[in-house]
Amino acid sequence: MKAMVLKQMADLRETRAPLDCMDWPEPEPGNGELLIKVSACGVCHTELDEIEGRTPPPRFPIILGHQVVGRVAGAGAGAGRFNIHDRVGVAWIYSACGKCPFCLSGNENLCDHFKATGRDAHGGYAEHLTVPEAFAYPIPETFSDVEAAPLLCAGAIGYRSLRLTGIRDGQNLGLVGFGASAHLVLKMVRKAYPNTRVFVFARMDTEKNFALELGAFWTGGIEEECPEKLQAAIDTTPAWKPAVEALKNLQPGGRLVVNAIRKEEADKNALLKLDYPRHLWLEKEIKSVANVTRKDVEEFLALAAAIPLRPEVQEYKLEEANTALLELKERKIRGAKVLVMPGG
Ligand SMILES: [Zn+2]
Ligand SMILES: [Zn+2]
Repeated sequence: MKAMVLKQMADLRETRAPLDCMDWPEPEPGNGELLIKVSACGVCHTELDEIEGRTPPPRFPIILGHQVVGRVAGAGAGAGRFNIHDRVGVAWIYSACGKCPFCLSGNENLCDHFKATGRDAHGGYAEHLTVPEAFAYPIPETFSDVEAAPLLCAGAIGYRSLRLTGIRDGQNLGLVGFGASAHLVLKMVRKAYPNTRVFVFARMDTEKNFALELGAFWTGGIEEECPEKLQAAIDTTPAWKPAVEALKNLQPGGRLVVNAIRKEEADKNALLKLDYPRHLWLEKEIKSVANVTRKDVEEFLALAAAIPLRPEVQEYKLEEANTALLELKERKIRGAKVLVMPGG
């Protein structure tokens, strides 16, 4: 099968094509696993973190990609949850132990043995992948394959982030950075919390205009003072400065949710600007979002179908994965980037 393969870590400023297009042996489903013929796979900022070593794959070569939509093409021994040709999705959570206190308390995203699709196991930048059937999801009919793909990460983790903010309808929410996940959060908020004003902080005019089109109440630059205090903000940027700047806009008791698997080192000095009275005093909180649970994915897919929440997508061919990744790195973003497989 055709696959886009990462053989080693790379600095994307120097290596413009980190993935090799290769002929790769088709995987075989093991016990309890499905073989999935991939039709679409979303491109996520986390892939940049993997390539550049901020969350490195434990072994190489590795096939990236964790927002996978396809059809069941085979099943290993003991796998009977789906039929051949059923449409399923695979998300960032590839597996968890199922036995530890985290797994048993509904926090399988925090499991020590958490495995990530496209990092700890081969992912969807390929024509096929295998996955434990318990970690595959039926895709609601209302979505096309390409629409469903970005929902599986950007949407699911956006849903988890929004949940972790703890906001109620009518409370102000800030979105710091406006990429794939944030634009879906804005759409969720418009439906689920119709009286909540959303304030979007972004660098590019294209992002700001896009946010206004989708119903943001206000947009401004990353450093700008928000015209109203925020009950919560979600930071989806890879940098430190936006997080520090966001804290000043929180009201007393407000919460900043950081939805980034890693922060880049480049602007770490921004943390020295952290001013206790201005940024943290009066019980402001900072909370990170780690991974997703299956429940997040399932609940989010149901909500997305009920709304219905249609992501804006930009399509690329599988062999254009390097282009999509570079554009993501350079923040040439309008909605979510999705690789479409040959015949997919
Ligand atoms: Zn992702
Ligand atoms: Zn566990």
